[in-house]
Amino acid sequence: MSRFLTEKYASLTPYTPGEQPKDMKYIKLNTNESPFQPSKLAIAAAAEAAKRLELYSDPECHDLVAAAEKVFSVSRDEILFTNGSDEILNFAFMAFCDKEHPAIFPDITYGFYPVFAQLNGIPYRAIPLREDFTIDLEDYKDHKGAIFIANPNAPTGIALKKDEIEQIILANPESVVIIDEAYVDFGAESAMSLIHKYDNLLVTQTFSKSRSMAGARLGFGAGSKELIRDLNTIKYSTNPYNVNRMTMAAGIGVLADENYTKENCEKIKRNREYTLSSLRELGFFATDSVANFVFAKSDKISGEELYSRLKERGILVRHFSSPRLCEYNRITIGSREQMEALIAEIKKILEEME
Ligand code: PMP
Repeated sequence: MSRFLTEKYASLTPYTPGEQPKDMKYIKLNTNESPFQPSKLAIAAAAEAAKRLELYSDPECHDLVAAAEKVFSVSRDEILFTNGSDEILNFAFMAFCDKEHPAIFPDITYGFYPVFAQLNGIPYRAIPLREDFTIDLEDYKDHKGAIFIANPNAPTGIALKKDEIEQIILANPESVVIIDEAYVDFGAESAMSLIHKYDNLLVTQTFSKSRSMAGARLGFGAGSKELIRDLNTIKYSTNPYNVNRMTMAAGIGVLADENYTKENCEKIKRNREYTLSSLRELGFFATDSVANFVFAKSDKISGEELYSRLKERGILVRHFSSPRLCEYNRITIGSREQMEALIAEIKKILEEME
């Protein structure tokens, strides 16, 4: 820390992204990326856009929004694109929370929520999930501030149904309810259609997972036009050109290729079912994930040991050290070959333990 860092950031603990080791080539199942290349249409459009990088990007994302209107059934003033969905989530903390309007979210969820709260000096309460990692709807009532719910949740992959989300929205008319749908395309019900019905709902999504564009950084929020106007105030007060030209073009390209996205999601779902059933056959307990990852533990090997042994063998998974999670690993669903390699290595590791 330099002697210049201001006091308000001195105690900030930043978010820890999944490791990206450079020492060897790993089968990377630790950051929930897609194993598939971006759509060819996205790649070609980004390459073309690179020819005009001397110009700023369109701050209104006009053409991208036009493409999104059709795909997500929203109108122009109900959507705002950002630099990954992390940015729209941060904007939501900035816009809708303060000392009198604290944030609440489950104790086990996306690790960036407490970081955004701390960064912005926002008080927050982490509400314990039930023992089985599900949300008790009774815990989310009459809050005044903002409620952040990842649906499906991370790192468990467990999802609420749309009518349960609706109950939370109805039970908290004085709160903005932010539903983070980073993983929704792999089998959960989206709450997107509810934005036309409720003025206190913001749905966020990302192009990083189902649309294979993690490296491009593209996400968005959808909500009532008043909420989107508020979020635009934050955007235009921080970085009006938050979506760069190549990313915007790639976004338009991938939205013109929805069949490719749908096929890839189906492949991930099939590979997830293969992985879940193989792990369960090997005696693992795994949550009922509907995301592009599974969350599993075994009573034959600790979470940390399995993580280390897989890493030695060139397979990276994500291990969290907090007490309720440390027996588990979160394993991204990759290609069928990658998942077969994972299961084969886990079998060998377990045999060696006997
Ligand atoms: N929400 C959740 C629950 C996530 O796991 C992630 C990915 N780490 C994000 C949001 C942010 O994704 P991105 O910024 O790549 O859109």
